Amino acid sequence: MIYPWQQQQWCLLKSGSDEDRLPHALLLSGPKGMGKQLFATTLAQALLCRYRDGEGFACGDCPACERFQAGTHPDYLPVMPEDEGKSITVDKARAVSEFLVLKRHYDGCRVVALAPAEAMNTAAANSLLKTLEEPVPGTFLILLANTSGALLATVRSRCQQIKFVVPQRIIAQEWLHSQLGEWQDVELLLNLADGAPLQALRLAEEGVLEQRLEMLEQFEQISTGKSDPVSVARQWSRQKRVSDALFWLNRWVMDMIRLKYVSQPPSLVNRDVAERLLAIIKDIGGSLLFAFLERTTKASQYLHGSINGQLLLEDLLITWAALARQRNTNS
Ligand SMILES: [Zn+2]
Repeated sequence: MIYPWQQQQWCLLKSGSDEDRLPHALLLSGPKGMGKQLFATTLAQALLCRYRDGEGFACGDCPACERFQAGTHPDYLPVMPEDEGKSITVDKARAVSEFLVLKRHYDGCRVVALAPAEAMNTAAANSLLKTLEEPVPGTFLILLANTSGALLATVRSRCQQIKFVVPQRIIAQEWLHSQLGEWQDVELLLNLADGAPLQALRLAEEGVLEQRLEMLEQFEQISTGKSDPVSVARQWSRQKRVSDALFWLNRWVMDMIRLKYVSQPPSLVNRDVAERLLAIIKDIGGSLLFAFLERTTKASQYLHGSINGQLLLEDLLITWAALARQRNTNS
């Protein structure tokens, strides 16, 4: 199965496969929340199945499909970090090379799906490069990346890149309505998710939208000096909301800047809370908002490293509280 917005990519690969000129290495790239993982799994199963249907999908019934679905296909290797946010190490990259030269169990090919490719550390990427330079016939390496620019250029250039761009709004809306029902505000969800349908679905299903309003309330209280930034940071980090908090802070301040300069900005993300954002930034200068935006962007980048999430949040919220206090004493 693939998502409705992936038809074009599927057709491209299917015609490559039909003509027996599918590249050994594919790089599926595009923002998070586009369903690349499902696409890669569907493709891997199709490559291993012996009885594909007319559209190129796996039959679902043959011995290869049964083993694939049970997660025990001996010619398929999914590769990922030990834990989310950790690196893919050189040992794993070596295991990929060793796996690809093994004799095949079935009369088919061997497939590796590695995600996220940008999680490979330098040693792992260099090791994989050798595999890419000398592809073994009958093997396919599928790499997935949210930010393909973060990959070694030499790795990138040896893969055929299949790009997944944010789908047309109407397609994403129809799909979200089919998942969530007609009554949901899918437009707001898609705005908040930068148009990525699966990310929008996650926002709706995991109660993230309600959390966002709670967090906004606490942010307002910090702005008016009614809450202590350190205890709010501690609370958010205890509730394991650090990455959500960084995401919302970043989106709020982007909208604040839009509201600062345009009376009815067309590209507003948090449209439902525009009045509240406007109230928060009353008497705060645009240049201070830009500086704060930069801090939130940097903080999101640090989060992938080994930096303590609570400290990142404390730093941001203390900065914001100081900025707001200045405004409160001035006015
Ligand atoms: Zn099959």
